[in-house]
Amino acid sequence: MRKPMTTLITSGALALGSANTPAVSADAKFGPSNAFYAPSTLPFHAPPFDKIKDEDYQPAIEAGMAEELSEIQAIADNPAPATFENTLVAMEKTGRLLQRATAAFGAVTGANTNPLLQKVRTEEAPKQAAHHDAIYLNAKLFARVAAVYQRRATLQLDGESARLLEVTYDNFVRSGANLSEADKTELKKLNEEISTLSNRFSTKLLDATKDGAYVSTDKSALAGLSDAQITAAAHAAESRKQEGYVLPLQNTTQQPDLASLRVRATREAIFEKSWNRAERGDANDTRDDIARLAQLRARRAQLLGYPSHAAWKLGDQMAKTPEAALKFMDALVPGASAKAASEAKDIQEVIDTQKGGFTVQPWDWDFYSEQVRKAKYDLDESAVKPYFELNNVLENGVFYAANQLYGITFQERKDIPVYEPDVRVFEVSNADGRPLALFYCDYFKRDNKQGGAWMGSFVEQSKLIGTLPAVYNVANFPKPAPSQPALISFTDVTTMFHEFGHALHGMFSNTEYPSLSGTATARDFVEFPSQFNEHWALYPSVFAHYAKHYRTGTPMPADLVGKIKNASRFNQGYKLTELVAAAQLDMQWHTLPAGTPLQQPDAFEKQALEKTHLLLSAVPPRYRSSYFSHIWGSGYSAGYYAYLWSEMLDDDAYEWFEEHGGLTRANGERFRAMVLSRGNTEELAKMYAAWRGKNPSVEPMMKYRGLQ
Ligand SMILES: [Zn+2]
Repeated sequence: MRKPMTTLITSGALALGSANTPAVSADAKFGPSNAFYAPSTLPFHAPPFDKIKDEDYQPAIEAGMAEELSEIQAIADNPAPATFENTLVAMEKTGRLLQRATAAFGAVTGANTNPLLQKVRTEEAPKQAAHHDAIYLNAKLFARVAAVYQRRATLQLDGESARLLEVTYDNFVRSGANLSEADKTELKKLNEEISTLSNRFSTKLLDATKDGAYVSTDKSALAGLSDAQITAAAHAAESRKQEGYVLPLQNTTQQPDLASLRVRATREAIFEKSWNRAERGDANDTRDDIARLAQLRARRAQLLGYPSHAAWKLGDQMAKTPEAALKFMDALVPGASAKAASEAKDIQEVIDTQKGGFTVQPWDWDFYSEQVRKAKYDLDESAVKPYFELNNVLENGVFYAANQLYGITFQERKDIPVYEPDVRVFEVSNADGRPLALFYCDYFKRDNKQGGAWMGSFVEQSKLIGTLPAVYNVANFPKPAPSQPALISFTDVTTMFHEFGHALHGMFSNTEYPSLSGTATARDFVEFPSQFNEHWALYPSVFAHYAKHYRTGTPMPADLVGKIKNASRFNQGYKLTELVAAAQLDMQWHTLPAGTPLQQPDAFEKQALEKTHLLLSAVPPRYRSSYFSHIWGSGYSAGYYAYLWSEMLDDDAYEWFEEHGGLTRANGERFRAMVLSRGNTEELAKMYAAWRGKNPSVEPMMKYRGLQ
């Protein structure tokens, strides 16, 4: 699964700004010499990276918060009765300076950071969070929003404006703006306690994971690892001042080394360390914390008027209710577990052929499935890479598919300033020649870049503000030596299509209001355009257009293409089952109603998996409750299903294309008009169904995963 798009930039009128921050001293440092002082005069309001100095960011962000604060306060204090125009539209217009500064800042701290920028980020993060809270608890402002909302039936707003009113009002209510003073006090206390417990969980888990490392002084226990891996294990021991070899734990249940470790007892020991890392009954045991967290979250949901934490969290998602997410996951289980069972059978055959004399266990899975993979699916990376030269993939693959579908064209612009010389900029035009957007790409790995791949925006499209989008893609592909071609793997090719799918979602945006623009959609929807765009990488006419040998220009031989397609089906039963099991654990914990007694996590987990038909001896959940950091330590509570939900959408959408003639301009235009340009301007389930002609179904997803 690809890393979800990193939201580097929080923008929109309300994202940042607060009543708490004093009119900062930074004002003194903020003046016309600061590159953010005035809006950019470059094409598309592109950030003037030739003028921006690292020292400009902090004063601009602080002045931007102060500016937005006074703009927001002026709206709240307006003596005229609240109207849609003087309240909702006015709020959309606030915070322009802050938007300029944080957009550029988000990009450079992600892709080109340094100690000064990191220091600024550390200092500004809590201030920005406090700003957000303070705005949503500004009673005067909320009273005006609520007054407009109460009159919504009489206002005759257009669809997008009605949506803005609903989303804005909903955001206030979901943050507790509607509560009595006593309830607000309890809410703040609950928020504080939840945040403390969540931090404590993260701290414990970090230590538990470190302590959970496998340690051995016996080199023979590591048989199967490469020399480089063994050297790394010796270095890991040295840096911990321990004898022998150390294999640190990864955050998932399965550990990568299990695929190559030949000694079964070693595998079992590592698995045990992983599975019980946070259940040792010591200071790092997280079980009491998660049980309490589940209880507190249920109480908070009740206070806010919802039957469970999941109901509260899903209220503004495409799925809308926990029931819809549960029903979706239930539909995946039979196909996924049946396929996992057949994979287990293949593995058992290998074990039996080798006279192993045991039944496959979780710690055996990757070791034997790797042998199955080699026999059935082997794909030699060095044989395929010469057909994937990066620039060729970009221009004759990624851009070509978008041109064929949407008619857009790309012209490189060397005159737009960039933050690093490797970054390239393209002006994107509509089929009729009208300008559409700027697209930046920054593909090569650097030491000052975060890992993974993501998309972000320098400028968001908005008709109200009068802006066209300027978006970027970042990745971490190996940079070739000077004058050598950049040859990438098919996984990297897929990443390029994926991130460009996010970019299209940003570039095609055609909305009035900035807070509803582009990728500002629900978590269970935002990965849909990106995952959908991955499908074109293997589409025959697109693939044939870019997959050519970098030296000879010959197309990739058919048997290699077949191997690439085949490899994507490997081990899918296991992979889907472990994901659904984790997503189910998340949802089961977070559909507990308020007032439920404190749960005993092991018993609860076992029961939850049993109830959902996912208690499988050889296929454990991807994360166990006690080390499921997405749901206890970061923002993914009741949200882990979203990865799978987006996958359902992208496969279901691709099936619509297949049913309607595949890659054609007409199909692309319709998708652009009804989905990609719409941002969050309509309820997402309705928007999708209107385009698709029906609600999404899981069958295409099962088909593309090879599970049907
Ligand atoms: Zn993504």
